[in-house]
Amino acid sequence: MIIFKQVTQLQQHLQKIKLANATIGFVPTMGALHAGHLSLINTAHINNSLTVCSIFVNPTQFNDPVDFKKYPVTIEEDIYKLEKARADILFLPEIEEIYPNGSQATYRYELGELATILEGKYRPEHFKGVCQVVHRLLNIVRPNALYVGQKDYQQCLVLQKLIELLQLNINLIISPTQREADGLAMSSRNMRLAPEQRKAAVAIINSLSFIKENLKTLPIEYVKQEAAQMILQAGFAKVDYIEICEANNLQSIQHLPYNKPLIALTAAFLGEVRLIDNLFLDN
Ligand code: AMP
Repeated sequence: MIIFKQVTQLQQHLQKIKLANATIGFVPTMGALHAGHLSLINTAHINNSLTVCSIFVNPTQFNDPVDFKKYPVTIEEDIYKLEKARADILFLPEIEEIYPNGSQATYRYELGELATILEGKYRPEHFKGVCQVVHRLLNIVRPNALYVGQKDYQQCLVLQKLIELLQLNINLIISPTQREADGLAMSSRNMRLAPEQRKAAVAIINSLSFIKENLKTLPIEYVKQEAAQMILQAGFAKVDYIEICEANNLQSIQHLPYNKPLIALTAAFLGEVRLIDNLFLDN
């Protein structure tokens, strides 16, 4: 694996490779890599001639400065894991490489309501920051395909919209959420959980599974309330949201039956760590 820290050097290298008609699969991350990230690398590796991974903890997508400051950094381990997963290139830029003119967004992303609901409501400016960094990274890497995880489902829809807005010829490939043995969605933020919190964290997926199992027989509002209670009773401090939505636009649904795919999504705080997860529902 070759590590590039500078944009110009990475671009020179990639240009040579593109001349040979190679396809590039790109996996942007914020590091502290786990098996979820590595599943994206693996899929990119299988389907492309070259796999590029980036590690950059993007300050502009954090609405909470404490969350940014405490975001785990494990570069040595990450490099080892990427080598083992057979990534070809790691792009590891400093902030000046990504934002040479400062981090103020110069482009207005017309993301519509999608960016103001759920995560967008509780993390104002978050998706603007995500679009800003991914736009910049896509301009640098110019991949054929972008690999993302269903774990951040709303982000997947936002990035699909970004690709359409920018009229880029890039395939967005969404990989399933990788989970720990007890069902907890893998996340870099899980590292910040104390042992007792780690045990309690499983309530997130349990509550989504409860929705999946009971949605057909119990009223929607009741199912959502019970699911929120399950999370709070496990010791979470706060549930930001727990919603049942149409999967392709994340509009909240109020009545069943519904003839389009549905998804349940939640975000909740365990201590000061905010966890998110989602689950497709059968309907
Ligand atoms: P992050 O480093 O958290 O920004 O995540 C980088 C990419 O990995 C994003 O596309 C995430 O959706 C994806 N990802 C994070 N956690 C998981 C997981 N548990 N399973 C699959 N993909 C994941």
